[in-house]
Amino acid sequence: MEYYSRQISRLIRELSALPGIGAKSAQRLAFHILNMPEDAVEALSASITDAKRNVRYCRECYTLTDEELCPICRDGARDHKVIMVVENTRDLAAYEKTGKYEGVYHVLHGAISPMLGIGPNDIRLKELMQRLTKEVNEVIIATNSSLEGETTAMYISKLIKPAGIRVTRIASGVPVGGDLEYIDEVTLLRALEGRTEL
Ligand code: ZN
Repeated sequence: MEYYSRQISRLIRELSALPGIGAKSAQRLAFHILNMPEDAVEALSASITDAKRNVRYCRECYTLTDEELCPICRDGARDHKVIMVVENTRDLAAYEKTGKYEGVYHVLHGAISPMLGIGPNDIRLKELMQRLTKEVNEVIIATNSSLEGETTAMYISKLIKPAGIRVTRIASGVPVGGDLEYIDEVTLLRALEGRTEL
């Protein structure tokens, strides 16, 4: 990339470090940004730095939010006695898009993976257990159907069941290894409605 000036090369390098952005896309984005009006570029860079500075974990469900409690946890109309456990905030968004789930969530921020050395203490599992001291009717485990997701589901169910709380797992209509965020809403709803007892 020596044929670009230093600052253009730097912009391309930073962009290509993002997931899913290859060298070609990074170049296309870089030149697009250079052609944008200055205030639009400033708005873009401010949105990145503001989000990075202000986004934190919700005190209750640990999703990413810019307030102490996320809008879902603050919503009194939601059923706070049903908790759906998901791997990340994008999975939460996928279920929210269906508009049919009325409970609340718990975001683990990962899944147990002995192969990658990720254990129960590396995800927000302790925080989930702490929430279960309050009155909870059901915990729906909606981790991915990957090996890691299944391992995590089994682990959580073994942990929770002795407490006498109903534990369910979303149906396996979800393709194996499929990231929840890429699955369409109908499939997600079917998986939720067809959930089984663990
Ligand atoms: Zn929350």
